[in-house]
Amino acid sequence: MFGLIGHSTSLASAVEKARMLGYDDHAEGDMERWCSSPPQLLENFKLTSKTGKLIEGAYIDSCFLPEMLPGKFKTAVRKVQNAMALAQKYGLNVTALGGFTSIIFENFDLAKFQKVRSTLLEWKRFTTGNTHTAWVICRQVEENAPRLGIDLAKARVAVVGASGDIGSAVCRWLSRCTGVKDLLLVARHRGRLQALHDELGSGTVLSLDEALCQADVVVWVASLYQTLRIDPASLRQPCLMVDGGYPKNLDTRVSLPNLHVIKGGIVEFFSDIAWTMMQVAEMERPQRQMFACFAEAMLLEFEGLHTNFSWGRNNITLENMETIGMASLRHGFRAIGLDHPALVTA
Ligand code: NDP
Repeated sequence: MFGLIGHSTSLASAVEKARMLGYDDHAEGDMERWCSSPPQLLENFKLTSKTGKLIEGAYIDSCFLPEMLPGKFKTAVRKVQNAMALAQKYGLNVTALGGFTSIIFENFDLAKFQKVRSTLLEWKRFTTGNTHTAWVICRQVEENAPRLGIDLAKARVAVVGASGDIGSAVCRWLSRCTGVKDLLLVARHRGRLQALHDELGSGTVLSLDEALCQADVVVWVASLYQTLRIDPASLRQPCLMVDGGYPKNLDTRVSLPNLHVIKGGIVEFFSDIAWTMMQVAEMERPQRQMFACFAEAMLLEFEGLHTNFSWGRNNITLENMETIGMASLRHGFRAIGLDHPALVTA
């Protein structure tokens, strides 16, 4: 059995979810109530791969809310540790740390704190899901840019959050496997970007404003809580944006006739799953669509790979991306793309 650890995108959406699921005390509670809430196993469900293999999973809400950061970091840390301890208590073989939970784990170096009260956490039972997320985002770039007439061999691709775990993997893949013309590397700290640039032997370190006005494709994988406003007039046209952040990094009100935004790192399963969790995550097809990091736990369970496949920072290899990507296709997942009939048939 596999597990998924998630959280709501805001207090407002958490309250709405609690109301929908009949957790009235949480629905009426304020931020303090959520700060003191233990994790909850909300749902069990099953799914069958295209290969015919049946697996069973569980969804755990950590009761973390993005509003807890940066002020209540001890609470945020406790939420993640308690949710992991609960997953282990239920004997889940492999559990994905969704949304901010993997970022909290890494940023607060929780690998140093293996003991949560009486539970010694076994790291091999957990994965960040970032290898599959990075592979899916690259696939979204490769499949959708040509539909807009963007030739990736001649294109400039900006990666916002390039020095992060997912961002650096996306950069490696796009430069070595896809062969984009130029990668524009964006983040706040230049030192880590420079190290990535040295590793890749290519790419250009730029500020966000400098990159946006040159990019044919923009991949957003920054760990931002609040969405960014961008000036549409500064963008190239056509421009493909793959918004992989959680919550989404982009202000969706940005609109231009030739600006195409895809929800990044989202996959669709080939058949319906009897669960409600993706409904509350506002997926367009909640019975089939989900975050790629969650799908990684499912893939590891389908493949019998009970190991922390994605772990630590900037360890994602091209080989592992290929392995999880092939498993993804084999078991019936596809990356979501531009839903535009004229483009799909072009
Ligand atoms: P990391 O913490 O490893 O990396 C975050 C990156 O964002 C770093 O390069 C950081 O560099 C950069 N960054 C942070 N703030 C800013 C800013 N204001 N402007 C520009 N760059 C910034 O995160 P991950 O790679 O693990 O995750 C990236 C995103 O992907 C997150 O939003 C996460 O929630 C989402 N995600 C989506 C999944 C899915 O299934 N769809 C799964 C897992 C994660 P610096 O600090 O130098 O600015």
